[in-house]
Amino acid sequence: MFVNSQSRLFALGFALLLFAGACGSGEGDTSAVTSDPADSATTETTDGESVDTILDDESADGDATAMAGTVDVGLFFDGALATEVTTEDCALSGGAETSCYVITVAGDPVTYDTGPFCPETITDSADSGGIWFDGDGVYDIDGEFIVNLAELYGDDNWMMYDEDGNVLVTETAEEFDLAARPDVDPSLQNHCVEGRLEWLENGEPISTTVTIPVEPVLADAVSSAQGNLGVTLDGVVIAASAPVEAILGAYTIAAFDDCGGHFNPFDGYHLHGAVGCSELDEAAEGETAMFAYAMDGFPVHSPLDDVDSADLDECNGHTTEEDGYHYHANNAAENQVIECLIGQTVAGSDAAGGGGAGGRPEGPPPGEG
Ligand SMILES: [Zn+2]
Ligand SMILES: [Zn+2]
Repeated sequence: MFVNSQSRLFALGFALLLFAGACGSGEGDTSAVTSDPADSATTETTDGESVDTILDDESADGDATAMAGTVDVGLFFDGALATEVTTEDCALSGGAETSCYVITVAGDPVTYDTGPFCPETITDSADSGGIWFDGDGVYDIDGEFIVNLAELYGDDNWMMYDEDGNVLVTETAEEFDLAARPDVDPSLQNHCVEGRLEWLENGEPISTTVTIPVEPVLADAVSSAQGNLGVTLDGVVIAASAPVEAILGAYTIAAFDDCGGHFNPFDGYHLHGAVGCSELDEAAEGETAMFAYAMDGFPVHSPLDDVDSADLDECNGHTTEEDGYHYHANNAAENQVIECLIGQTVAGSDAAGGGGAGGRPEGPPPGEG
Protein backbone atom coordinates (compact mmCIF):
# COMPACT_ATOMS: atom_id res chain seq x y z
CA MET A 1 0.00 0.00 0.00
CA PHE A 2 1.01 3.57 -0.69
CA VAL A 3 0.95 4.66 2.90
CA ASN A 4 3.05 1.71 3.89
CA SER A 5 5.75 2.36 1.34
CA GLN A 6 5.86 6.01 2.30
CA SER A 7 6.34 5.19 5.94
CA ARG A 8 8.95 2.60 4.98
CA LEU A 9 10.82 5.30 3.07
CA PHE A 10 10.53 7.59 6.06
CA ALA A 11 11.78 4.88 8.35
CA LEU A 12 14.69 4.18 6.05
CA GLY A 13 15.65 7.85 5.94
CA PHE A 14 15.38 8.09 9.67
CA ALA A 15 17.57 5.03 10.06
CA LEU A 16 20.16 6.57 7.72
CA LEU A 17 20.12 9.73 9.80
CA LEU A 18 20.62 7.70 12.93
CA PHE A 19 23.45 5.83 11.28
CA ALA A 20 25.15 9.03 10.23
CA GLY A 21 24.68 10.44 13.68
CA ALA A 22 26.17 7.38 15.28
CA CYS A 23 29.15 7.58 12.95
CA GLY A 24 29.86 11.15 13.88
CA SER A 25 29.65 10.73 17.60
CA GLY A 26 31.58 7.49 17.34
CA GLU A 27 34.52 9.33 15.85
CA GLY A 28 34.23 11.94 18.53
CA ASP A 29 34.36 9.32 21.22
CA THR A 30 37.48 7.64 19.93
CA SER A 31 39.33 10.92 19.85
CA ALA A 32 38.27 11.39 23.46
CA VAL A 33 38.93 14.53 25.41
CA THR A 34 42.03 13.18 26.98
CA SER A 35 43.68 10.88 24.46
CA ASP A 36 43.46 12.93 21.30
CA PRO A 37 41.95 16.28 22.02
CA ALA A 38 43.30 18.26 19.08
CA ASP A 39 40.13 17.73 17.07
CA SER A 40 37.78 19.11 19.65
CA ALA A 41 39.98 22.18 20.07
CA THR A 42 39.83 23.13 16.44
CA THR A 43 36.12 22.60 16.04
CA GLU A 44 35.25 24.81 18.98
CA THR A 45 37.05 27.78 17.51
CA THR A 46 34.28 28.11 14.95
CA ASP A 47 31.80 29.10 17.62
CA GLY A 48 30.62 32.52 16.50
CA GLU A 49 29.80 33.76 19.96
CA SER A 50 33.29 33.16 21.26
CA VAL A 51 34.82 35.00 18.35
CA ASP A 52 32.58 37.98 18.90
CA THR A 53 33.62 38.16 22.50
CA ILE A 54 37.25 38.10 21.54
CA LEU A 55 37.12 40.55 18.71
CA ASP A 56 37.39 43.82 20.49
CA ASP A 57 37.81 46.87 18.32
CA GLU A 58 39.38 48.82 21.13
CA SER A 59 42.53 46.84 20.78
CA ALA A 60 44.95 48.67 18.53
CA ASP A 61 46.38 45.75 16.67
CA GLY A 62 44.38 42.87 18.00
CA ASP A 63 41.59 43.80 15.54
CA ALA A 64 40.36 41.11 13.27
CA THR A 65 43.34 38.85 13.73
CA ALA A 66 42.39 37.65 17.15
CA MET A 67 40.17 34.62 17.20
CA ALA A 68 39.95 31.73 19.55
CA GLY A 69 37.52 29.43 21.20
CA THR A 70 37.01 28.75 24.81
CA VAL A 71 39.54 27.09 27.05
CA ASP A 72 39.05 23.34 26.67
CA VAL A 73 39.85 21.71 29.97
CA GLY A 74 39.42 18.35 28.25
CA LEU A 75 42.81 18.93 26.64
CA PHE A 76 44.65 18.37 29.93
CA PHE A 77 46.21 14.95 30.08
CA ASP A 78 44.86 12.38 32.52
CA GLY A 79 46.43 13.02 35.91
CA ALA A 80 47.63 16.53 35.06
CA LEU A 81 45.13 18.18 37.38
CA ALA A 82 45.15 17.74 41.15
CA THR A 83 41.48 18.62 41.55
CA GLU A 84 38.42 18.98 39.40
CA VAL A 85 38.20 22.20 37.42
CA THR A 86 35.65 24.63 38.81
CA THR A 87 34.11 27.76 37.31
CA GLU A 88 33.70 31.06 39.09
CA ASP A 89 32.86 34.70 38.33
CA CYS A 90 35.98 36.75 37.87
CA ALA A 91 37.10 40.28 37.11
CA LEU A 92 39.83 40.69 34.53
CA SER A 93 42.72 43.14 34.41
CA GLY A 94 40.99 45.30 31.80
CA GLY A 95 37.75 45.50 33.73
CA ALA A 96 35.88 42.67 32.03
CA GLU A 97 33.52 40.66 34.23
CA THR A 98 33.37 37.11 33.02
CA SER A 99 33.66 33.43 33.94
CA CYS A 100 36.93 31.82 34.83
CA TYR A 101 38.18 28.30 35.23
CA VAL A 102 40.00 27.52 38.45
CA ILE A 103 42.61 24.98 37.42
CA THR A 104 44.98 23.22 39.79
CA VAL A 105 47.89 21.53 38.04
CA ALA A 106 49.37 18.65 39.97
CA GLY A 107 52.98 19.79 39.66
CA ASP A 108 54.44 16.58 38.28
CA PRO A 109 54.46 16.18 34.49
CA VAL A 110 52.44 13.13 33.44
CA THR A 111 54.05 12.83 30.00
CA TYR A 112 57.69 12.41 31.11
CA ASP A 113 60.00 11.69 34.03
CA THR A 114 61.80 14.73 35.39
CA GLY A 115 65.60 14.90 35.19
CA PRO A 116 68.44 14.27 34.78
CA PHE A 117 69.79 17.70 35.67
CA CYS A 118 73.48 17.67 36.62
CA PRO A 119 76.20 15.33 35.32
CA GLU A 120 78.25 13.41 37.89
CA THR A 121 81.71 13.79 36.37
CA ILE A 122 83.45 16.09 33.90
CA THR A 123 83.65 13.24 31.37
CA ASP A 124 79.90 12.58 31.36
CA SER A 125 78.02 12.97 28.09
CA ALA A 126 74.93 15.09 27.51
CA ASP A 127 72.78 12.04 28.33
CA SER A 128 73.76 12.42 31.98
CA GLY A 129 72.65 16.01 32.32
CA GLY A 130 69.92 18.38 31.27
CA ILE A 131 70.17 21.81 29.73
CA TRP A 132 70.98 25.34 30.80
CA PHE A 133 69.77 28.56 29.21
CA ASP A 134 70.69 32.07 30.21
CA GLY A 135 68.93 34.43 27.81
CA ASP A 136 71.69 34.08 25.24
CA GLY A 137 71.82 30.39 24.42
CA VAL A 138 70.83 26.85 25.26
CA TYR A 139 73.60 24.55 26.43
CA ASP A 140 73.73 20.81 27.07
CA ILE A 141 74.97 20.30 30.60
CA ASP A 142 77.60 17.67 29.95
CA GLY A 143 80.98 17.34 31.66
CA GLU A 144 82.58 19.63 29.13
CA PHE A 145 80.07 22.38 29.87
CA ILE A 146 81.02 22.20 33.55
CA VAL A 147 84.72 22.45 32.70
CA ASN A 148 84.19 25.40 30.38
CA LEU A 149 82.10 27.57 32.73
CA ALA A 150 84.98 29.93 33.54
CA GLU A 151 85.51 30.54 29.86
CA LEU A 152 81.80 30.84 29.02
CA TYR A 153 81.18 33.47 31.65
CA GLY A 154 84.64 35.06 31.61
CA ASP A 155 85.30 34.56 35.32
CA ASP A 156 87.99 32.33 36.82
CA ASN A 157 86.02 31.89 40.04
CA TRP A 158 84.02 29.19 38.32
CA MET A 159 85.27 25.76 39.49
CA MET A 160 82.39 23.32 39.76
CA TYR A 161 84.36 20.07 40.06
CA ASP A 162 86.96 18.54 42.35
CA GLU A 163 90.47 17.25 41.54
CA ASP A 164 89.05 13.82 40.73
CA GLY A 165 86.73 15.26 38.11
CA ASN A 166 83.56 14.88 40.16
CA VAL A 167 80.99 17.59 39.54
CA LEU A 168 79.86 19.38 42.70
CA VAL A 169 76.11 18.79 42.88
CA THR A 170 73.56 19.45 45.62
CA GLU A 171 73.36 16.05 47.29
CA THR A 172 70.85 16.39 50.10
CA ALA A 173 67.53 18.08 50.71
CA GLU A 174 69.35 20.51 53.01
CA GLU A 175 71.84 21.50 50.33
CA PHE A 176 69.00 21.87 47.83
CA ASP A 177 67.12 24.16 50.22
CA LEU A 178 70.23 26.28 50.77
CA ALA A 179 71.11 26.53 47.08
CA ALA A 180 67.80 26.72 45.21
CA ARG A 181 66.92 30.16 46.54
CA PRO A 182 67.74 33.80 45.84
CA ASP A 183 70.43 34.10 48.52
CA VAL A 184 72.49 31.01 47.78
CA ASP A 185 74.37 29.85 50.86
CA PRO A 186 78.10 30.59 50.35
CA SER A 187 78.96 26.96 51.08
CA LEU A 188 77.08 25.98 47.93
CA GLN A 189 78.69 28.37 45.49
CA ASN A 190 80.17 26.52 42.56
CA HIS A 191 77.54 23.79 42.73
CA CYS A 192 75.32 22.44 40.04
CA VAL A 193 71.93 22.78 41.74
CA GLU A 194 69.34 20.08 41.31
CA GLY A 195 66.32 18.99 43.28
CA ARG A 196 64.29 15.85 43.56
CA LEU A 197 60.65 15.15 44.15
CA GLU A 198 61.47 13.40 47.43
CA TRP A 199 63.21 16.53 48.73
CA LEU A 200 60.04 18.61 48.51
CA GLU A 201 57.90 18.99 51.61
CA ASN A 202 56.37 15.58 52.40
CA GLY A 203 58.04 14.27 49.26
CA GLU A 204 54.98 15.29 47.29
CA PRO A 205 54.57 17.33 44.10
CA ILE A 206 53.56 20.94 44.74
CA SER A 207 50.33 21.82 42.97
CA THR A 208 49.61 25.29 41.63
CA THR A 209 46.17 26.84 41.18
CA VAL A 210 45.58 29.31 38.38
CA THR A 211 42.44 31.19 37.42
CA ILE A 212 42.03 31.60 33.67
CA PRO A 213 39.19 33.21 31.70
CA VAL A 214 36.95 30.61 30.07
CA GLU A 215 36.88 32.79 26.96
CA PRO A 216 39.87 35.05 26.31
CA VAL A 217 39.10 38.77 26.31
CA LEU A 218 41.47 41.12 24.50
CA ALA A 219 43.28 43.76 26.53
CA ASP A 220 43.67 47.37 25.38
CA ALA A 221 47.40 46.83 25.18
CA VAL A 222 49.68 43.85 25.34
CA SER A 223 51.26 43.18 28.71
CA SER A 224 54.31 41.37 29.82
CA ALA A 225 53.16 38.53 31.95
CA GLN A 226 53.93 38.89 35.63
CA GLY A 227 54.48 35.85 37.76
CA ASN A 228 53.34 32.55 36.37
CA LEU A 229 52.82 32.59 32.61
CA GLY A 230 50.55 29.60 32.18
CA VAL A 231 50.10 25.88 32.73
CA THR A 232 51.13 22.93 30.60
CA LEU A 233 48.60 20.33 29.50
CA ASP A 234 50.54 17.69 31.45
CA GLY A 235 50.29 19.45 34.79
CA VAL A 236 53.21 21.86 35.24
CA VAL A 237 53.16 25.57 35.96
CA ILE A 238 55.06 27.79 33.50
CA ALA A 239 57.10 30.14 35.66
CA ALA A 240 58.46 33.57 34.87
CA SER A 241 62.03 33.85 33.65
CA ALA A 242 64.57 32.11 35.85
CA PRO A 243 66.65 34.68 37.82
CA VAL A 244 69.76 33.99 35.80
CA GLU A 245 71.81 36.88 37.16
CA ALA A 246 71.35 35.77 40.75
CA ILE A 247 72.04 32.15 39.85
CA LEU A 248 75.23 32.91 37.95
CA GLY A 249 76.23 35.57 40.48
CA ALA A 250 76.46 32.82 43.09
CA TYR A 251 78.47 30.63 40.70
CA THR A 252 75.69 28.13 40.48
CA ILE A 253 73.84 26.51 37.60
CA ALA A 254 70.18 25.85 38.41
CA ALA A 255 70.10 22.98 35.94
CA PHE A 256 66.99 22.31 33.87
CA ASP A 257 66.14 18.87 32.59
CA ASP A 258 65.82 18.21 28.88
CA CYS A 259 62.21 19.46 29.01
CA GLY A 260 63.24 22.86 30.38
CA GLY A 261 62.00 22.45 33.95
CA HIS A 262 63.58 22.15 37.38
CA PHE A 263 62.65 22.01 41.06
CA ASN A 264 62.79 24.61 43.75
CA PRO A 265 61.57 24.08 47.31
CA PHE A 266 58.71 26.60 47.02
CA ASP A 267 57.09 25.88 43.68
CA GLY A 268 58.23 22.31 43.17
CA TYR A 269 58.79 21.34 39.56
CA HIS A 270 58.15 24.21 37.15
CA LEU A 271 58.95 25.14 33.57
CA HIS A 272 61.24 27.90 32.27
CA GLY A 273 61.83 26.80 28.69
CA ALA A 274 59.71 25.19 25.96
CA VAL A 275 61.53 22.52 24.01
CA GLY A 276 58.70 20.39 22.65
CA CYS A 277 57.61 18.46 25.74
CA SER A 278 54.05 18.19 27.14
CA GLU A 279 52.59 18.44 23.63
CA LEU A 280 49.36 17.14 22.18
CA ASP A 281 49.90 14.33 19.70
CA GLU A 282 48.80 16.23 16.65
CA ALA A 283 49.56 19.53 15.01
CA ALA A 284 48.16 21.13 11.87
CA GLU A 285 50.43 21.18 8.83
CA GLY A 286 53.19 23.74 9.17
CA GLU A 287 52.32 24.14 12.84
CA THR A 288 53.85 22.97 16.07
CA ALA A 289 51.71 21.23 18.65
CA MET A 290 49.91 22.93 21.51
CA PHE A 291 51.36 22.22 24.96
CA ALA A 292 49.90 24.82 27.33
CA TYR A 293 47.39 27.53 28.11
CA ALA A 294 48.58 31.05 28.87
CA MET A 295 47.12 32.99 31.80
CA ASP A 296 44.83 34.92 29.44
CA GLY A 297 43.27 31.69 28.17
CA PHE A 298 44.94 31.53 24.77
CA PRO A 299 46.64 28.28 23.75
CA VAL A 300 50.43 28.07 23.60
CA HIS A 301 52.19 26.01 20.94
CA SER A 302 55.82 24.91 20.86
CA PRO A 303 58.37 27.23 19.22
CA LEU A 304 58.21 27.43 15.44
CA ASP A 305 61.19 26.30 13.40
CA ASP A 306 60.52 28.89 10.75
CA VAL A 307 59.46 31.98 12.62
CA ASP A 308 59.90 34.36 9.70
CA SER A 309 57.22 32.88 7.48
CA ALA A 310 54.62 32.72 10.22
CA ASP A 311 53.96 36.45 10.54
CA LEU A 312 53.82 36.41 14.32
CA ASP A 313 52.68 39.45 16.30
CA GLU A 314 54.74 41.04 19.07
CA CYS A 315 53.62 38.35 21.50
CA ASN A 316 54.64 35.56 19.11
CA GLY A 317 51.01 34.90 18.34
CA HIS A 318 49.03 34.50 15.17
CA THR A 319 45.69 33.26 13.91
CA THR A 320 45.43 30.18 11.75
CA GLU A 321 42.39 28.56 10.24
CA GLU A 322 42.87 25.32 12.15
CA ASP A 323 43.89 26.64 15.55
CA GLY A 324 42.51 30.16 15.82
CA TYR A 325 44.63 32.63 17.76
CA HIS A 326 47.52 31.04 19.65
CA TYR A 327 50.96 31.94 20.92
CA HIS A 328 54.18 30.27 20.02
CA ALA A 329 56.62 29.84 22.86
CA ASN A 330 59.96 31.56 22.62
CA ASN A 331 63.01 29.47 21.94
CA ALA A 332 64.24 28.21 25.32
CA ALA A 333 67.43 30.26 24.92
CA GLU A 334 65.43 33.36 25.74
CA ASN A 335 64.52 32.16 29.24
CA GLN A 336 60.95 33.37 28.84
CA VAL A 337 58.39 30.87 27.63
CA ILE A 338 55.68 33.37 26.65
CA GLU A 339 56.74 36.73 25.21
CA CYS A 340 53.68 38.74 26.26
CA LEU A 341 49.91 38.51 26.49
CA ILE A 342 47.27 40.12 24.28
CA GLY A 343 44.43 39.08 26.55
CA GLN A 344 43.29 40.20 29.96
CA THR A 345 44.28 38.12 32.95
CA VAL A 346 42.50 37.74 36.26
CA ALA A 347 42.70 41.03 38.12
CA GLY A 348 44.81 40.81 41.22
CA SER A 349 46.48 37.59 40.23
CA ASP A 350 49.79 39.44 40.29
CA ALA A 351 49.23 40.77 43.78
CA ALA A 352 50.32 37.57 45.44
CA GLY A 353 53.72 37.89 43.86
CA GLY A 354 52.75 35.73 40.97
CA GLY A 355 53.86 32.56 42.64
CA GLY A 356 50.46 30.92 42.42
CA ALA A 357 49.74 28.53 45.23
CA GLY A 358 53.44 28.33 45.95
CA GLY A 359 53.22 32.02 46.59
CA ARG A 360 56.87 32.85 46.61
CA PRO A 361 58.78 34.07 43.59
CA GLU A 362 62.07 32.27 43.31
CA GLY A 363 64.09 35.24 42.21
CA PRO A 364 65.63 37.97 44.29
CA PRO A 365 64.16 41.47 44.17
CA PRO A 366 65.24 43.30 41.03
CA GLY A 367 68.69 44.72 41.41
CA GLU A 368 69.82 42.25 44.02
CA GLY A 369 72.62 39.76 43.53
ZN1 LIG B 1 62.95 28.02 38.45
ZN1 LIG C 1 51.00 28.83 14.99
